[in-house]
This record gives sequence, structure tokens and C-alpha cells, in this order.
Amino acid sequence: MIRGRLAPSPTGAQHLGNARTHLAAYWAARSVGGELALRIDDLDSPRVKSWAADQAIDDLRWLGIEWDTPIARQTEHVEHYRRAIETLHRHDLIYPCYCSRKDIEEAISAPHESRFRGESAPYPGTCSGYQYGDRIEDREHCFRFRAIDKALRFDDRSMGTLRCNPAKELGDFPVVTRSGHASYQLAVLIDDRLQGVNQVVRGNDLVASTFRQIDLAERLEIEAPEYAHLPLVRGSDGRRLAKRHGDTRLSFYRDQGVRPERIVGWAAASLGLIDRIEDCEAGELIECFDWEKLPTEDLLLGPETKRFAE
Ligand code: GLU
Repeated sequence: MIRGRLAPSPTGAQHLGNARTHLAAYWAARSVGGELALRIDDLDSPRVKSWAADQAIDDLRWLGIEWDTPIARQTEHVEHYRRAIETLHRHDLIYPCYCSRKDIEEAISAPHESRFRGESAPYPGTCSGYQYGDRIEDREHCFRFRAIDKALRFDDRSMGTLRCNPAKELGDFPVVTRSGHASYQLAVLIDDRLQGVNQVVRGNDLVASTFRQIDLAERLEIEAPEYAHLPLVRGSDGRRLAKRHGDTRLSFYRDQGVRPERIVGWAAASLGLIDRIEDCEAGELIECFDWEKLPTEDLLLGPETKRFAE
């Protein structure tokens, strides 16, 4: 039984790109009679907005996406993260790192071009000689995970087989942040396991993160879910979707009186599931879902989205 998930981050409004990914996750799970879990990724406390979780839930309902679980929140999982961190510590897989961003930039001399989107150069290992209990006075630190020096692979439902050596290409990464919270990489792995999620559909900007999460999963002896990474929706200039591309927040369309079927039809057409943009309800398209039809290239937003309100 497939169980997919929706995992909005309440750090801002959900926009068209989020809608497309949420719908894809919903169709992927439902098309094989699977279930869907909803989780609010509210761990990133300084960036979390008080209104954004409720708004994301309203957006999902408005789109016609239904889920099968009580709504979970990362902030409810803190004890589970703590236990996982304990396990990593017992296996000598984490160490305190005192480097600031600037320290890291200075330690990396050569310019780095990653084949993964948005990835900077691997951590240069400055603090990797420390053990878990080592402390330099009272200086602020995160805890880094010792990435494995071995080729990992996974079969992406959309992109095919992907490979990466985490130690060489990605470097050691934080599992506990400077403010003492579990990092995104650790949290989502534990969240998905707690929620029984075995299928993750998300944007292809997270492929490098997936290798980190698989690395963690192996060391924690957790079975990682299957993954599907989808191309992103970008602005007409190819840049990350932002305000300058116009307002693409779902709440904005809602306020304008745009019918959700418009957005759903646009998303389905842009995913190659229907031939042209036409108004559809989310539930009507479950049978149209087909991994083979999904696009491989990013979508640059065209003028069609300006006409949603017409
Ligand atoms: N909450 C994340 C986001 O909205 C998704 C995390 C994930 O897919 O692992 O981008």
C-alpha cells in the first residue's frame, strides 16, 4: 500500500509551484489506491509565519486534495529526532562544528560547480577531527553528520536511476542546527517514517538532499521511502518563482474568485496528464496520472496564469 505525503512549510504562502507538486503527490498515491498523509514542516522556527500553516491547509482543501491522516506537525516529533541524534552519536557519526558560513567560504579555495541544483561546495572538513563531546569554550556549534564515502543510488520514479557519493560530492552536513534543533535532513526522514510514508514526490531541487537522507536512513537502519523528483515551476525569465513574476499565491487566486478547477487543470496540463488546459476537479484526474507522462524540463510560467481570473 502506497502512502504519499503533503509537507508544506509554513514559512510563506503556497504558490502555483507548490500546488503542482501537492497535486502530483496526491494523484501519484491515489492512482494506485494509496493513501496520503499531511504534515506541516514547522521546524524552521525563525522563518515560520503564524498564519501560514492554516492557510496551506485551506489551500489544499480548496484545491480538492484530501488526506487520510490527522494533521501532523514536526514540532510534535522533537523527542523522536532526539533519539535519532543519540543513535548517530553512539555510532560516532556526528561531531560539533564551529565554522561560520564565512569560515567555510574561506576554507574552500577553488570555485565549485555542483551537478546538483543550488548546492555549494562540500564542507571542507575543518572540524571533522572533533568527537561528539569535544567543546571549544562556549562557542556556538552545529553537529555535522559524517557523510558516507561510498556511491549511493536510488531509482527515482520520474528521473530514473541516480547515483552520488555523499562524502565526495556533498560533504558532511548538519543534523543539529546551531540553535539546537534537528535539521531539515534528519527531521523529514524521521517524520516520514513516523507517518508510514513510503512515497515522496517533491521538487528536483531536493535531489542532493535525498542522497543525504538515504545516507542517514542507512546509518539509522530506517527504510527510506521511494522518491520522485519533479521539475520546478519557474518564472518566465527562468529564475526561481518570486514576487517579481506576479502574484502566484494560491490565496491570492482564491481572493480573486479564481475557481480551483482552473489551477488543477493548469497543473494537470503542465504535468502532461491532460492534453490542454481545461477546468477539472482534482479527484477527476486521479486516473490520468502516469509517471511516463511527467515532464523532464522545468516549466517557465507563461501568460496563461495571468488569465486564471478571467
Ligand atoms: N516542507 C518542504 C517544502 O515545502 C518539503 C520537504 C520535503 O519534501 O522533504 O519544500
